[in-house]
This record gives sequence, structure tokens and C-alpha cells, in this order.
Amino acid sequence: MSISENRAVILQTFKDRRPAAKLIAVSKRQPDERLDEALACGQRIFGENRIQEAQEHWQERRAAYPDLELHLIGPLQTNKVKEAVALFDVIHTLDREKLAVKLGEEMAAQNKAVPCLIQVNTGEEEQKSGISAQNLPDFLDFCRHTCGLPIMGLMCIPPIDAPAALHFAFLKKIAGENALSDLSMGMSEDYPKALDLGATMIRVGSGFFGERAL
Ligand SMILES: *Cc1c(COP(=O)(O)O)cnc(C)c1O
Repeated sequence: MSISENRAVILQTFKDRRPAAKLIAVSKRQPDERLDEALACGQRIFGENRIQEAQEHWQERRAAYPDLELHLIGPLQTNKVKEAVALFDVIHTLDREKLAVKLGEEMAAQNKAVPCLIQVNTGEEEQKSGISAQNLPDFLDFCRHTCGLPIMGLMCIPPIDAPAALHFAFLKKIAGENALSDLSMGMSEDYPKALDLGATMIRVGSGFFGERAL
């Protein structure tokens, strides 16, 4: 299927389930012609997981498409915070205190408030980044009151071998407990379920663009 057909299918799923949700087209490791095809279909919200690739993909295209909205969905190193704050409109992967401190300093320096989501390690996986649910209230308080960050919600990447729905429902529950409204959850394989369970932003890569380069 073409990008335009893929996009139509996804947006139809939104219509039936959660019309106000946002479709983030994940453009990592996709060739330039697919990015342009997506733009030609009217897609303006894109997700990337590496700073340098995001700059290569979007810095120039942004001049032609001022309504572009770029979301960072991959891990952020503290030495890349300056570039991230300059380029992105939303950061989904706030996952540790050191990063929160840096983001606060850099947003102040650039006089730019970039809305952030806190990544929650819902599966308590050792190798995965993210705040544990139990530490979320303290971390949220630290981000807001010590670092001055605009926190809009939560993000999760469920463990590969677990039923994603359980993690989506759990993320929704702790978002409610902490009075956070935005939920970034659901990818190509499971986004309809994520929409049913309250996602306000889904991150779809291969299901939107087709298979990625390795
Ligand atoms: C790559 C990626 C996606 C998109 O994955 P697909 O399975 O291609 O939809 C979503 N979220 C994150 C954090 C990613 O790194």
C-alpha cells in the first residue's frame, strides 16, 4: 500500500475510536522520497529517535513547511540537549533527573518551552529506560518545581513479549493518579488497542511509511 493509503487507514481507525488523537509518523531510517510523499499527503507530525538524523531529515524541510511538528521519541543524551531543544516541539523521553536539569537550563537559555512527556518503564525492565511508576510522583514534582519543565503526560514502550494492553491500561491509570492528560502509547502493531485504552498520541513507523532500512 502507498503512504497515502496507509495514512487513510490509520486516520479512519482514529475516527472510529478517538478522533482527537494525534498521529505521529515515525520517520527514522526512512528515505527522503518517503518523507516528501508523506508531506504531499498532508502529514505534518513526525517522530524521530536520533538528533542527527532528525536534523538531516527536517531542518531544511521545515523552512518549506512551517506547520511541521517534530517529536523526539528516542533516548536523549545530555550532550545533545541543546540541539534537541532547538529542533523539537515535543520530547517524549524524559527519563532521568540529570536530563531534566539540563532540559530546564537549556529551555531557559533558548527561551523556548518544549512540552515533555515522562517515559515510564511500565514493565520494570532493567535494560529499558524510564521512570518506575512508584517514583513518578517525586520525579514529576522535581521536573516541574525544581527544573521548571512543562510536563504534559506520559509515554511507554511495553516489553516485547508482554500483552501491550496491560501496559497501556496501567499507563492510563497512573496518568490519572497524577492528573496528566497526554498519553503517548501504541505503535504499528498495537495502535488500535492503544486508542481504545486512552492514547492521545500514537507513534506509527512501518505501518505508515512501510518497512524501514536496517
Ligand atoms: C521506531 C519507534 C516507533 C515506531 O515503530 P513501528 O513499529 O515501526 O510503528 C514507535 N515508538 C518508538 C519509541 C520507536 O523507537
